[in-house]
Amino acid sequence: MTDPALQPMPRVRRSRIFMRGLRGLCPNCGRAKLFRTGLRIHHRCPHCGMTLERGDGYYLGPLCINYGFVALGVVAPLLLLGVLGWISLKIALALAVVGGLLLPVFFYRASWSLWLMLYYLCLPDELHANRPESSDDLLFEEEARR
Ligand SMILES: [Zn+2]
Repeated sequence: MTDPALQPMPRVRRSRIFMRGLRGLCPNCGRAKLFRTGLRIHHRCPHCGMTLERGDGYYLGPLCINYGFVALGVVAPLLLLGVLGWISLKIALALAVVGGLLLPVFFYRASWSLWLMLYYLCLPDELHANRPESSDDLLFEEEARR
């Protein structure tokens, strides 16, 4: 049996990266889920071997997406509704606190998927499938940082 990581892969277009991001799949091969258990992302894709969790602050991308969604999309509008009197301020505060604590956990997986999608939509040549054959030195460079 041949190692799938050694197989040549077709170039991945942005539309495919987008669809894989929406489905929570590896942006490189699209054949494996990003998470191995509830909140644990695969360090490497189990199918193609591309590094998914690159360390060194790479987690800040999903954190910013998650925080932005919860703070700007949920908590701020709830507080605004409470301040404007459309709903009781006590209810708005209670919903904001509960939402602020629970939604980041529920949105964690989606935020990782969105982050990888946005990252590779902006830098599609960073995908292993899109790297030229002569770029093995980049792979080794990436591995040397670990
Ligand atoms: Zn993969």
